[in-house]
Amino acid sequence: MSGRPDDHRRKWNREEYERIALKRLQEEIADDELGIPKQPAVKRELLKQRDYKVDLESKLGKSVVINKTTPSSQSGGYYCNVCDCVVKDSINFLDHINGTKHQRNLGMSMKVERSTLEQVQKRFAINKKKLEEKKKDYDLEQRVKELKEEEEKLKEYRKEKRKDKKRRVDESKDDEDEPVDEMAAVMGFSGFGSSKKKK
Ligand SMILES: [Zn+2]
Repeated sequence: MSGRPDDHRRKWNREEYERIALKRLQEEIADDELGIPKQPAVKRELLKQRDYKVDLESKLGKSVVINKTTPSSQSGGYYCNVCDCVVKDSINFLDHINGTKHQRNLGMSMKVERSTLEQVQKRFAINKKKLEEKKKDYDLEQRVKELKEEEEKLKEYRKEKRKDKKRRVDESKDDEDEPVDEMAAVMGFSGFGSSKKKK
């Protein structure tokens, strides 16, 4: 049995690394005692934000012929021109370009600049403004929509009212005509209009 781990994650041999650390410490102490100055630590730039979009999709769905003489930069997969290596898939490529080795090749350490209070406040203000802008846009859209709906309702209402009025006029016409005639018929004459004058 090779003692291979069940998952793909790297496993570290603790004992091995503890031994290396101890050895380094002992060497440092020995150097100190001999008066050998420590090598100055390599000064690397702080980690910076990427200012370009990572292209993960431009080669998607395309076929390329690869043979023995194809340079590794064109041999499929994701090629890193900084480290001159090929990574199999996009997830691992992202891991690679965010990783220590790649950043070191770019001349950066993994240390991030500590933001000042002012910077944080500024960023908060920008985000707040963005949010308000978004809300304003939304409110405007919503308001226009509501106004349109209101207008439609008003139109419908006016239409109904007009219809109603017409109906009522028609009905009242009937009301005026019929009972008079009816009553006249009951009372035995043709109408009231002329009979009043006669009396
Ligand atoms: Zn790289």
